Amino acid sequence: MLALGSITNFFDLPGFAELALAMKTLPDAIQLRARIIRHLEEANSECSIGDRQSLLTFVVAGGGFAGVETVAALNDFVREALRFYPNLSDRMLRVLLVHPGAVILPELGENLGHYAQKVLAQKGVEIRLNTRATSMTEKEVCLNDGPPIPSGTLIWTAGTLPNPLLSSLPCQKESGRVLVNDSLQIPGWPEVWAVGDCAFVADAGQPGKLHPPTAQHAIREGRVVAQNIALALAGQPPKPFSFKTIGLLASIGRRTGVARIFGFNFSGFFAWWLWRTIYLSKLPGFDKKVRVAFDWTLDLIFRKDVCAVHDLPSRAHFHRRENGQRTVAANGNAQATASSDTSPGKLIRSKKESVREYLVPASGLDQRAS
Ligand SMILES: Cc1cc2nc3c(=O)[nH]c(=O)nc-3n(C[C@H](O)[C@H](O)[C@H](O)COP(=O)(O)OP(=O)(O)OC[C@H]3O[C@@H](n4cnc5c(N)ncnc54)[C@H](O)[C@@H]3O)c2cc1C
Repeated sequence: MLALGSITNFFDLPGFAELALAMKTLPDAIQLRARIIRHLEEANSECSIGDRQSLLTFVVAGGGFAGVETVAALNDFVREALRFYPNLSDRMLRVLLVHPGAVILPELGENLGHYAQKVLAQKGVEIRLNTRATSMTEKEVCLNDGPPIPSGTLIWTAGTLPNPLLSSLPCQKESGRVLVNDSLQIPGWPEVWAVGDCAFVADAGQPGKLHPPTAQHAIREGRVVAQNIALALAGQPPKPFSFKTIGLLASIGRRTGVARIFGFNFSGFFAWWLWRTIYLSKLPGFDKKVRVAFDWTLDLIFRKDVCAVHDLPSRAHFHRRENGQRTVAANGNAQATASSDTSPGKLIRSKKESVREYLVPASGLDQRAS
């Protein structure tokens, strides 16, 4: 069964592959969090007054689900963290969302998109519509419209590609994804199935349309393939895959969300509560559900936990397999991995005594950022 997923696509935009952050995996999220704290630490120092604007400006490219949820969480986090930095104030911060369309969250429709824009703007996010990020350097992000933004942090959520490994397979593909029949089998390869983001699955219920690359589809496709493998082993015909999207939800900041479920729109606290409850129910295993439920409950009572985290190696290095193997084998754990990287800014610790360091177990590094 092929389930290779997709990768971030930077469209060869200048500077992006080296400097932009992605938001796809847990290490991506950890790296962003570490970057924000590092920038706050640096900007708070008297020596960095000249660089303050660039350090305190964060740009997110892409107004889809990943971009909107990222900009909302980033904005909440960075504004809440400010109270620890006496030389910084709210008006020094800039958080921008750059979106090429006329309204963010287009999958949810105009009404919810406009609502999300209004809520984000009230929370201090600048939204640039009909605008694209075109290039970046360590100090600037260039847009197709207007002057460059002085910022060294761009989070790119505006494109994915099917896993490039698929291109080496001599089977039929559409848009780089493996074409499957309605039983999720690869035509001509009766013992091979494909699911999820790497599969091109036509929607039998809506001719001409595809099943979108979302987790709710991938999970159900996986179940159907498991049943079909059992049926094939028993010498019985496979069953077709059919599923209709139940709903789409997004968090747009603390205790506010937007959702469209069975065609009905929800917004505000109720949508946020739905978002949390549904995602909690999706977590695998009872113990994980309980751990996360406790963490989220504490989050309702206390402010965000702002403490320094070891910066992981850059994403490009991190995803190089030989890098991961070498560091784990040589040092035995992820703390030593991060400590061994002494390049500027890679290892910044808070000077505050209360700071804790989070260690990243090597086995947990490849989980979903969401
Ligand atoms: C930030 C973000 C938020 C999202 N939010 C939602 C959401 O709220 N709801 C929703 O329905 N969907 C959401 N999605 C989409 C969802 O995550 C994907 O559609 C889903 O994960 C696809 O599942 P998959 O199994 O096809 O691929 P993945 O989950 O990407 O899994 C692919 C796996 O294959 C592994 N792999 C890659 N290459 C190899 C190899 N050569 N050998 C072995 N293994 C390999 C990868 O390490 C990975 O573990 C979100 C995506 C992102 C990036």
